Amino acid sequence: MPGDDIAVRTEGLSKLYGTREAVVGLDLTVPAGRTFGFLGPNGAGKTTTVGMLCTLLRPTLGDAWVAGAHVVREATRVRRRIGVVFQEQTLDRDLTVMESMLLQADLYGLPGAAARAASTALLAPMGLADRAGQVVRTLSGGTRRRLEIARALVHGPRVLFIDEPTTGLDPQTRAAVRDHLRLLCREHGVTVFLTTHHLEEAEHCDRVAILDDGALVTEGSPQELKAVVGADVVTLRTDDDEFVAEAVHRSFGLPTKTGPDGVRLRTPDGAALVPRLCAALTVPVRSVTVTSPTLDDVFLHHTGRTIRS
Ligand code: ATP
Repeated sequence: MPGDDIAVRTEGLSKLYGTREAVVGLDLTVPAGRTFGFLGPNGAGKTTTVGMLCTLLRPTLGDAWVAGAHVVREATRVRRRIGVVFQEQTLDRDLTVMESMLLQADLYGLPGAAARAASTALLAPMGLADRAGQVVRTLSGGTRRRLEIARALVHGPRVLFIDEPTTGLDPQTRAAVRDHLRLLCREHGVTVFLTTHHLEEAEHCDRVAILDDGALVTEGSPQELKAVVGADVVTLRTDDDEFVAEAVHRSFGLPTKTGPDGVRLRTPDGAALVPRLCAALTVPVRSVTVTSPTLDDVFLHHTGRTIRS
């Protein structure tokens, strides 16, 4: 069993739906008190993994421990130690904000005074202090999302799972939610385990695991992951991408890839290479972009595809 410094550990965790392998042999270690981003394209197996970690889905094979308890043998213990915010909204639209919090506290057996104190303390940082009496159906989508996060914390969980935390939020609210989640980690030691297919969301996490086709691709801090790619990416759009890819490879000795975005290549100093490239090519160049590595480049590096595609 993992120690207190480990929030989640999986060993060979797998889930089959019939013959469909949704998650395959996942070995994962998530340190406690950090934000952990589980990044992957649609259908990668993120929701299935979280379902197993939250004890909602039974693994087909392998083991997993969450907050020190085994997800199958100690499922009740796991449930008491985690908070979950699902992709779909699960709020009762007829309750007020405070009633939603108190109902959740009641489900976890929190006594009345403690429930109210915890609720009040959680609503304030989510910007909901003055909304306590408002009925859920009258709240905007973004405000409901913030309420769902506050509600999932009312029983003091050690690990908070959030499926796509900021989907549908405006940029300002997205930043506020992110700040609050970070605060939860730093000041209260809560581990935030979020799933996302948004690169920007993952960029803000302390650690990131990239999942594709049910399997772990790579894992580390965003900086560590990007250091593996290590170079600028130059993307050329030309009148003949296949020809240019071949010519660049031949003349500059750089590996190239062609795709819907054009011809991509990696080099330590993209800005310096561009004028030399343009001077050397005999095919008209329509556009050139130079970007520093992103997590999408990391995904491309490991899988040959971009998350966006
Ligand atoms: P998204 O971001 O779209 O939610 P995801 O990464 O969370 O994607 P999952 O929802 O875990 O991915 O799905 C992983 C794979 O398992 C997909 O191919 C999906 O079609 C399949 N799948 C998920 N749930 C079931 C189910 N109940 N029965 C059969 N197949 C399923």
